[in-house]
Amino acid sequence: MSVKICTHQAAETIGGNCVEIVSEEGRRLILDAGRPLELETRQKAVPPPSLDVEGDIEGLLISHAHADHWGLLPELPSQWPVHCGRATATLLRLNPGYGPLTRPLNIWPSEPGASVQLGPFTVRPYLIDHSIFDAYALQIDVDGRRVFYSGDFRGHGRKGVLTRRLVENPPAGVDALIMEGTNLGTAQAPPPATEEDLEERFGDLFRKTKGRVFVTWSSSNIDRMVTIYKAARRAGRVLVPDLYCSAVWREMATLTRGLPDIERGSGISAVVTTKMKRVLAGLDYEDMVPGLVEKRAAIPARSLEKRPGLWVAMIRPGLVSGYRGQVIPSADDAWVWSQWRGYLDESRITEPLRELIEFMSPCGGPIYIHTSGHASPALLRDFATALNPKMLVPIHGEAWREHQHDFPNMRILANGQWLEI
Ligand SMILES: [Zn+2]
Repeated sequence: MSVKICTHQAAETIGGNCVEIVSEEGRRLILDAGRPLELETRQKAVPPPSLDVEGDIEGLLISHAHADHWGLLPELPSQWPVHCGRATATLLRLNPGYGPLTRPLNIWPSEPGASVQLGPFTVRPYLIDHSIFDAYALQIDVDGRRVFYSGDFRGHGRKGVLTRRLVENPPAGVDALIMEGTNLGTAQAPPPATEEDLEERFGDLFRKTKGRVFVTWSSSNIDRMVTIYKAARRAGRVLVPDLYCSAVWREMATLTRGLPDIERGSGISAVVTTKMKRVLAGLDYEDMVPGLVEKRAAIPARSLEKRPGLWVAMIRPGLVSGYRGQVIPSADDAWVWSQWRGYLDESRITEPLRELIEFMSPCGGPIYIHTSGHASPALLRDFATALNPKMLVPIHGEAWREHQHDFPNMRILANGQWLEI
């Protein structure tokens, strides 16, 4: 008998990770349960055919709260115990896309170096830099074998030091490294822009724009909101996230030092729209709104029409109905796209996004200010070299085959294929 691993999904695609480790005695541990990115919004995800959903498992570990790592959860047995980081649990519960998520979530220890025992598996989470708050790489020891799962990671974000520390001081004796490779195959340009670089670019734009600056960013990308917030403060503007984003920010601020409290004159005002109020109500979170109004930390959408040079306002498809008739974009305003450019590809544009593009058309096309949430090809090589595994099992990438020579001992699996380690 030996320890076995299997990539049930995302062996050679980006997103939808689902990995299983089986001990010598046949005990099971699952790493991530992602929803494939290529599914349409309304399309139901189904568990991968190779994943046995009848049997018990010791645990299902969710590395971070991006849906391509957890979106399959609602389709998996409710008795399967789920484990994740503290802020990840909050982000999962706050997610309106697939919720309400009612199953219990077990929180793993957040102190560096701490581990949790799940049956024969010793799990050690490593907090790591990624484009969402509270992302982890995971080290799993079982029956004398060591598996290291990178999750999604980068080194050029606000928590880049965590990745550098891991590369400088890697765990020894890794038998199998399961590593993401999102950015393999992308153009080999200069090193990726950091959040500080973006802060400069946002700042320049905020200063030179006469009217409002509308920005499209992801609510769970706290790094990015910090970037936009700092640039807005320096340019003397007020940051205006929507109610949902404000709820995420407020929750994250309770879990970490350094994020300003929206309710305390921090230069952030939430824009109140009917649709986002409904979203909060669906999450049992509507109590937040009266508090924000009372503390003068909320504004109606029509306020954005007055003193246009004061605002950096969030814009996304869910806000268009609330802005329509209240906010009239003009040629004095600017619109920034601060997330993955691929969402704007003609083949991916959804109807709500098309409405947004039309609504924003008086500002001119979006200006792109973004940096990837994933490691550069150079960092992927450094990471694999540092961990020096007996075998590297690729996941969450499309160009692994062209880069086989860059990574010794690579074992490309097909979805559902088992590998003894
Ligand atoms: Zn991710």
